Amino acid sequence: MAAKIISGKEIANDLREKMKEEVNNLKKQGLTPGLAVILVGDDPASHSYVKGKKKACEEIGIYNKAIEHPASLTEEQLLSEIDQLNEDDSIHGILVQLPLPSHIDEKKVIERILPEKDVDGFHPINVGRMMTGQKALISCTPYGVLKMVQLQNIEIEGKHVVVIGRSNIVGKPVGQLFLNENATVTYCHSKTKNLKEITKQADILIVAVGRANFIGKEYIKEGAVVIDVGVNRLPTGKLCGDVIFDEAKDVASFITPVPGGVGPLTITMLMHNTIEAAKQSQGVCS
Ligand code: NAP
Repeated sequence: MAAKIISGKEIANDLREKMKEEVNNLKKQGLTPGLAVILVGDDPASHSYVKGKKKACEEIGIYNKAIEHPASLTEEQLLSEIDQLNEDDSIHGILVQLPLPSHIDEKKVIERILPEKDVDGFHPINVGRMMTGQKALISCTPYGVLKMVQLQNIEIEGKHVVVIGRSNIVGKPVGQLFLNENATVTYCHSKTKNLKEITKQADILIVAVGRANFIGKEYIKEGAVVIDVGVNRLPTGKLCGDVIFDEAKDVASFITPVPGGVGPLTITMLMHNTIEAAKQSQGVCS
């Protein structure tokens, strides 16, 4: 039987409609959530991500401050701008688009953002809170993956989740989030031996490698849920995931497409985090 295709686009639209309503209500109470996005340099992919974030803010009614700098911006200048935004009461979320030019230390930049304004969820304080099961701003792509699975009413507790990839922004946190939901989690990476034997045991297989068409049907257990986080550009210019969709859809029970799968959820969870940060700043409970 062919897998159910999980449309990230539809889920994102539904969530954004609800957020629009929530922001409207917050505005009536005198609170307008605000997001500052800082872009350094002229990487075309980063420009397009920043544009997507601006559009989502406008759609939902979040105040959006887009700040663009040339690649020559110094680390000191960037840190001082973050300090100002940390102090700015109209800004509840600060996002510095990565990657940064090599003369700027990303770690320093991430750690300069106040944890309560760290809507990317990259600050070690938020990562630590998430790891220890405390309330935290959770990084957007992993959070989006969890949300997608939960909204399909797919059971997580007791299931074997296999994550391929262990980056700090996707692999590690996504596995931790599923562990927090009582899944049994296995991480795989480039040094993993017998990858296929491990992925074949997954009830939920999350692939975050960044290699086009890396996972074929022989890696997937019949009836597994397959979440493809990978975004790869083929020489033809077409986007594709890490999973061979046409093969996997005949084996899996649920599958996410690329594009239109995890991607739209990432920006949506950024909007969610900005609203949460704004509410927290005023002591409004969610
Ligand atoms: P990354 O930092 O390059 O990490 C890739 C991971 O894959 C690493 O942990 C690496 O293992 C592992 N890996 C590489 N080759 C492997 C192999 N042959 N077998 C098993 N594991 C292997 O990438 P990332 O930032 O996590 O991103 C992963 C993908 O997700 C990319 O395509 C990226 O574009 C995409 N992404 C999408 C979104 C979205 O919104 N949809 C957001 C973020 C990222 P080692 O640790 O051993 O090197």
